[in-house]
Amino acid sequence: MSLNRDVQELRAFVGGEFADGPRTFDKISPVDGSLVAKVHEADQELVDRAVRSARAALDGAWGRTTATERVTLLRRIADRIEERFDDLLAAEIADTGKPVALATNLDVRRASANFRAAADIIAGTGLDSFLTDTPTGQALNYAIRKPLGVVGVIVPWNLPLLLLTWKVAPALASGNAVVVKPSEETPSSATLLAEILAEAGMPAGAFNVVHGFGPDSAGEFLTTHPGVDGITFTGESATGSVIMRAVAPHVRPVSFELGGKNAAIVFDDAEVDRAIDGLERSVFTNSGQICLCTERVYVQRGIFDEVAAGLAARAKGLRFGRPDDPATTTGPLISHTHREKVRSYYTIAEQEGAQLLAGGGIPELGPELAGGAWLEPALWSGVDNSARIVREEIFGPVAALLPFDTEDEAIRLANDTEYGLASSVWTTNLERGHRVAAALRVGMSWVNTWYLRDLRSPFGGAGLSGIGREGGVHSLHFYSEPTNICVQL
Ligand code: NAD
Repeated sequence: MSLNRDVQELRAFVGGEFADGPRTFDKISPVDGSLVAKVHEADQELVDRAVRSARAALDGAWGRTTATERVTLLRRIADRIEERFDDLLAAEIADTGKPVALATNLDVRRASANFRAAADIIAGTGLDSFLTDTPTGQALNYAIRKPLGVVGVIVPWNLPLLLLTWKVAPALASGNAVVVKPSEETPSSATLLAEILAEAGMPAGAFNVVHGFGPDSAGEFLTTHPGVDGITFTGESATGSVIMRAVAPHVRPVSFELGGKNAAIVFDDAEVDRAIDGLERSVFTNSGQICLCTERVYVQRGIFDEVAAGLAARAKGLRFGRPDDPATTTGPLISHTHREKVRSYYTIAEQEGAQLLAGGGIPELGPELAGGAWLEPALWSGVDNSARIVREEIFGPVAALLPFDTEDEAIRLANDTEYGLASSVWTTNLERGHRVAAALRVGMSWVNTWYLRDLRSPFGGAGLSGIGREGGVHSLHFYSEPTNICVQL
């Protein structure tokens, strides 16, 4: 794993071959500050080549594959990902420093599941057809779905392989060719995936990888490229806004999975221990660096102190350490830059008069890990909905706890945000669970659980949290375009 892996050299993957960029950048381990990889940054010319290769694949053998052939190929890719499980795990851990238990159970397992789910959806999809009455008899309408074409896929660093395969699998299943730009912080698993897809028989050019940054680098070259037919993006809301402007001149469709400021609502009829278990997971998993993580916790007044004390105790029980130690529960943040951003909110919280319930410092972990981006969590109370720590996405192991009295007040407070990604509601009252979940303006509302996913269900956000939904048939709708054909009978 990262602490004893050789430094890698990571190239672009274009037209079925690894390709050098004009310069390289360093990928640094968030665990101990060591060098993980030298990464070839793509320039405009390399991105052009990747887009041309993708177009050539669509015009060639890949474009002629049948859905049945793609289903077989995607299932073979899923098998191959499982065979190369340990390699992907090592790549993912080297880049992110996340604990081995988390990366095993969440990240890498989901990569093969994403390919299987996309194969299943394509295998089960037929034509949309219906009959229309006309003055001269009936007409048969049917729609055929065609791939969007060349799809640019841009993803962040927090769940690199999971989020990449979440988009790439349905895009390929629908017959598109893709050019992928992973985050500059997590280039390893995408590079390995290129190798795996080629081994599984993916035709040259159908899957391309370009490394680099956003502005004036591979990200911008891809989003402004006239040869790209659509962009699917996961990342910050502000970046989504820049990408919308970049694609506007060519009027391309976008699918955006963006930031969140997710609320949990705990009613006084909840099973309190179960709610605290759920809150622990939803606030601290992956050091709070999951778009679905909870950063606002609204607790009914009668149980506020009990929930606050329970969650603070869990924060104190988190165990930092080497990612390859199975006892480690909590890894570092992705980088020193991100740690400084999260820490700036610790200062803002103080200035806003928040009361610190737990954490708030930098853990002492000894010389081996001293160069890493480690940070204790922070739980706050004593602020209202106007505080910046309650309004702005921090993307760290943090939450503000706020009391409420009535159901209507809880809904109003939870909806008082420009974001709209996810929420969780904790109650034993069946009707209330359904009622409150439905009243929240979010893409996903959980009741008495968090991050329980069925890959066929719609995933995405409202407001600043995104545009469109992916997952199951919703992904097919983005990655394909229907042509309706009307035949007078
Ligand atoms: P980011 O927006 O900084 O970067 C995401 C990707 O976009 C990276 O690959 C980056 O290089 C690229 N990029 C940056 N600027 C660009 C530009 N101008 N043009 C083209 N590409 C550009 O996000 P991040 O810091 O990597 O990830 C954290 C964010 O992602 C958080 O806001 C989090 O909530 C969000 N996120 C959302 C979801 C979701 O499903 N809604 C899932 C995971 C993460």
